[in-house]
Amino acid sequence: MRGTLSTMKKVWLNGELVDQDQATVSVFDHGLLYGDGCFEGIRMYNGRILKLGAHLRRMYQSAEKIRLKPAYDPDAIDRAIRETIAANGLNDAYIRLIFTRGAGTLGLHPFKCPTPGTIIIADTIQLYPEELYENGMKVVVAERPRIPIRCLDPSVKSLNYLNNIMAKIEAIDADVLEAIMLNIDGQVAECTGDNIFLVKDGRITTPPREAGILMGITRQFVMDEIAPACGHVVDEELFPLETLLHADEVFLTGTAAEIIGVSQVDEHTIGNGQVGPITRQLIQEFRNQTAENAPED
Ligand code: PMP
Repeated sequence: MRGTLSTMKKVWLNGELVDQDQATVSVFDHGLLYGDGCFEGIRMYNGRILKLGAHLRRMYQSAEKIRLKPAYDPDAIDRAIRETIAANGLNDAYIRLIFTRGAGTLGLHPFKCPTPGTIIIADTIQLYPEELYENGMKVVVAERPRIPIRCLDPSVKSLNYLNNIMAKIEAIDADVLEAIMLNIDGQVAECTGDNIFLVKDGRITTPPREAGILMGITRQFVMDEIAPACGHVVDEELFPLETLLHADEVFLTGTAAEIIGVSQVDEHTIGNGQVGPITRQLIQEFRNQTAENAPED
């Protein structure tokens, strides 16, 4: 998350709203010991929680795939999220929902953790600087590939983000904000915290699930609602880095990033080095759709 926590927030922790300095977890929690758990990053725009339904569905799918039985059902979490936002007096917010495996023994055994942890943090978020939405951002291609589906399916939004963090360090070392991650077959997968799209000859494509990606909620929103509202369809297709480098436009999507154009990948300029017309159109449509009546389903 790119935001910073301001002081004395109320955090929802295992059924109660507590001051943030009281919001602590056990050192025996397997979320801490092993990154054993899952999470969601969710946005509220002008009092409406964008795609909350989709985020909750993905959260419970992640939990199921790692065989974590959540302590609360989706309706209870929906209410708790709204309660947390209200307790912090927010109208625009970034919400972090976390399920941890819970406290157990020092060994790996996940089923020796009797009670899973549930955490909801609501705060504001600082996006990439507006200047980058205007001019596009530079990214690099990480040398480290995205972890293969057979090892740990990237469609599980697990608390174990070291694969992405190591690629993010490559971006930081290169003095840029994001890194593109290829899968082990050399196809483009996604970025460390964003999905990726390209535009070529007016056609929009994005890597499919088989590329080994997180099935981004913003990605789906763009495919199902934003692009169609602009008269475009999006095709899911595997493509190598070479195809991306020769695209007319490249853009990223994510809950925090929304939609942002890419101007440069490593030393390669994308298109004419400016944010392309289709990306601009999609950014505008995203802003229109979230400004007043963001869909919550
Ligand atoms: N890929 C990865 C690896 C992510 O962590 C994220 C979210 N931060 C995304 C893609 C974008 O997903 P969403 O649109 O659901 O935020």
